[in-house]
Amino acid sequence: MTWTGPTTCALITDAEKQAIHDRLGPDPLRADADPAAAHARIRRSRTSIAALLMDQKVIAGVGNVYRAEVLFRHGIDPYRPGKDITPAEWDALWSDLVALMREGVRANRIDTVRPEHTPEAMGRPPRVDDHGGEVYVYRRAHLPCHVCGTEIRTADLAARNLFWCPTCQRR
Ligand SMILES: [Zn+2]
Repeated sequence: MTWTGPTTCALITDAEKQAIHDRLGPDPLRADADPAAAHARIRRSRTSIAALLMDQKVIAGVGNVYRAEVLFRHGIDPYRPGKDITPAEWDALWSDLVALMREGVRANRIDTVRPEHTPEAMGRPPRVDDHGGEVYVYRRAHLPCHVCGTEIRTADLAARNLFWCPTCQRR
């Protein structure tokens, strides 16, 4: 096989493009994203899952609201080390991020509560927050958990405020 000039150029361009892509973890909004690539990094890490979810080299585009909410929805303590996240838990987290983030783009707001925890279902007033949307823990510090009534906690993690329920979310 003979390599021609233009072909070589094209190959370098593709390789460079791939190198840039490889520096970012998979993006749940992309159909071609590979969740196993993210789990490969997570399962080798002693870093907390909450910090890993904010690391763009692990997973791209999650952001602070979805990180807090998806960990709540799966009952995972934000300080649990990545290496202790099981493959089944990771699959569930990833599928949920894909669904929640797609819905967020479609609706242009972030809602993360399940049907049984909406204001209508629970007979509670809707959330009043600039951010909009119904959530379980994000920016709900010191308010009662919608599921168990425990006071929602907050702490600084990976330079952002973290929110979680110490009863619903387990190590
Ligand atoms: Zn709770």
